[in-house]
Formats: sequence, structure tokens, C-alpha cells
Amino acid sequence: MAELNETRLYDTGISHGPGVLPTVPAMWSYSSLKEAEICPRRFALARADYPDLWAQHGYPRLPNLPAMKGDVVHGALQIIVTALVTAGCVSPRTADAVTVLRDLGGYTAVAQRTLDEQLRRLDGNPRISADRREQIDRALSDWLPEAREQIQSYLNRMTLHPHPAPAPTPTPAPVGAPTRLPAKRYPIRGGTHPERELVAAHLRVRGRVDVLSVDADGAEIMDTKTGAEAPTHRDQLRLYALLWMDDRESNPDALPVTALVAAYPDRDVVVPVPTEAELADLRAEVTARVGRADAMVAANRPAAVVGEQCGTCDVRGLCDEYWERGTPNTVDVVNGGWYDVEGTVLREHGVKSWVLREGRTGSNLLVRTPRPSFTLPVGEQVRILGVRRTIDPDEADALIASLNSSSEILSVVSG
Ligand code: SF4
Repeated sequence: MAELNETRLYDTGISHGPGVLPTVPAMWSYSSLKEAEICPRRFALARADYPDLWAQHGYPRLPNLPAMKGDVVHGALQIIVTALVTAGCVSPRTADAVTVLRDLGGYTAVAQRTLDEQLRRLDGNPRISADRREQIDRALSDWLPEAREQIQSYLNRMTLHPHPAPAPTPTPAPVGAPTRLPAKRYPIRGGTHPERELVAAHLRVRGRVDVLSVDADGAEIMDTKTGAEAPTHRDQLRLYALLWMDDRESNPDALPVTALVAAYPDRDVVVPVPTEAELADLRAEVTARVGRADAMVAANRPAAVVGEQCGTCDVRGLCDEYWERGTPNTVDVVNGGWYDVEGTVLREHGVKSWVLREGRTGSNLLVRTPRPSFTLPVGEQVRILGVRRTIDPDEADALIASLNSSSEILSVVSG
């Protein structure tokens, strides 16, 4: 494992300047462990700091609309479930629940507040143009009525367990404490708890359960999923079962898990609760995975796993191995296909077109831009993320690619 104060620099090869690679996480989660396993390079670059680019941590993320929608639904559910449980409601359909919802302003108002919070996080992101931001704002605002229905659908399937006594307020982490360390926690002996963090300190794994409901018989763990059903959801719930059993601060009485539920927009899927023997196997498996992930992330140059995942990788613009062997040549891309291209800008061709010499093939490529103000730097080597192959029937042999307002242009400074 890397020393905590060891600084490892990553040469991005572009005008963003170097990245300061992150240290090995003090705690892993289901998703961070999976991400490191899929591609250690992506894990490290996404979490590195880029002081020449911006002051925030990590590489600025491009907005992912499905993920943002999921966060809005999760955030709204957390607010509503917390309010209902605090008021002693056992269901969102009772008369007292209606009063609570009215006091919150209704489903749409809560969704709007969580959406506003999500959108605020995009402020200052150097990768989002004004055009793109406007498109995102509009798309998510138009989606709000659907969000309201989804939130209602999840809530209507929930049975709430009011806390037998007022739940202690979690103590926040001290000011200045590393954000990756969990806040001080407390035993959970009854009631429904939204967004509850569970920690298996000896495994160095933690997880945030969407809805944890505890009674004298044990704990029901529900994870809300706003996307399509996937086998990984079952694995995540099984890991949460292990965290509940091994988190002696949250579960000092070693209450068992009574149910694991993946809640999808239109149905609940019950996942079998792991047996003692299965939990022991899972514990050993997680221990081994954490050891391997530590080593992969601590490497001075975390390994790049080039594959299908590169197409949606947020940091592919910085990944040399992707540009060496992960991008296709324009000539091999089908009409209408989206891809990334690297080359040198030779000249302006027209008000909305430029000529680029493709780096790998040396072929000239006509690059069309969405508007005249979208310029390319003549004489510079660039990486363009998101171009669309265009085959003109009148010039079938010409290599043409088109940008849109989401396309990104990065200037290469080395290599
Ligand atoms: S582009 Fe591919 S290889 Fe490079 S960091 Fe992203 S996922 Fe990994």
C-alpha cells in the first residue's frame, strides 16, 4: 500500500497539466471496489486532483442523465421517508402521512429541491459548455413529472417502521477530518432508517443502505434501483448483508438479516439472504478483493484495462493506452457511429469545417463543427471526444466526421 503522504504524479499528456494520484482508500465500497477491478487506471484518474485545471477534487465529471435521475429519486426518497418515520407514520397512504407530505410541499416540490441540488453540483465544471448545461437543465426539468410517479411508486410499496424512541442524531465527523472516514455511528435497534451507512471496519468496506428497517426479528435491507435489473444488484445486497452482520457498532446485538430487497421502478425483487457459510465465503472473498484492489491502486501507474468500458469512460481523454490502442480509425467506423479521434489540425476548410490529419493513419479527415464559433487550434495536436462518422453519398471515399455541442477538444502537449 502506498504511504499516505506519498505524492504520485500522472502525466496526462494534455493541457490539463499533471494529475496527483489518490492514495489507497481507507474504506472501500461495493461500487469503488468494482470500479477499481474493471480498470485501476480509470479509478485512479477519476479521483486524482488536477490543480492546473480546477480546485475541486477528482477529474470533472461529465453529467450522466440516468445517474442524475437516480440521485434525484434517491434524494427525494430520503427526505420523504425521514419525515414520515419521524412523524410516526407507518405508511405513506395514511392521513397523517398526507399531512407530512403537504408540509414538505408535495412530491414534485421535494423532487425539484433535490434536482436543484444536483444541478448546483455542475456549477464551475470546466467540461460543461453553456449549451450543454442548458440542455441538461431542460431535460431534467421535463422529466420531473415522471420522477414524481417513480417516487410515489417506491413509497407505496414500503412499510415504514417508526422508531420506538427518538433516534439519536448521528454525530458529524469533526471539522477538518478526512471526508472518506465515516461519521460516528450509533446502534440501530428499531425503526426505518433511510440512507444508513454500515461499516465492516476489519474488512475496510462500507456501504450506504437506501432503506434499513429493523425490528426485534432482525433487519430488512432495501436498495432502490432506478435502472434495469442486473445481477450485480444481488451481489451488492449480499455485501450489505455481510456489512450488517459485521458492523458491531450499528448491530451490537448481532440481529440477523430477515430480507434483502431490490426495489425497481415497477416491482420488488427479493434476494435470498446468505447463510452463515455463504457469509464466511463472502468475507474471505471480500478480503482478497480488497487486498488486490489496494495493490492495483497503489501502483505508480495504475494498469489501464482497455475494452468496451472505455467508450463511456469519463477520463479516457487522459489515458494514453486508450489513444494508442482503444480508438478506431475513421475509415473503420460505420456511418453514424460515434467515436474519438486524435490528430493534428491542419487548416480551416470552411466556416464550419476543418481538416485534421489523423494521428495513427496519416489520413486527412474533414471535421464539421456545429456552429462557426466552434474553432479548432490550427497546428496543434488534439484529442476529440465524441465525433460522429458521416458518409456523404456524393463523396463516399471522403473521410468526414461531425462534432456536436457535447464534443470535447483536448490539446495534446506531449508524446
Ligand atoms: S479509457 Fe479505458 S483503459 Fe483508459 S482509464 Fe478509461 S476505462 Fe481504463
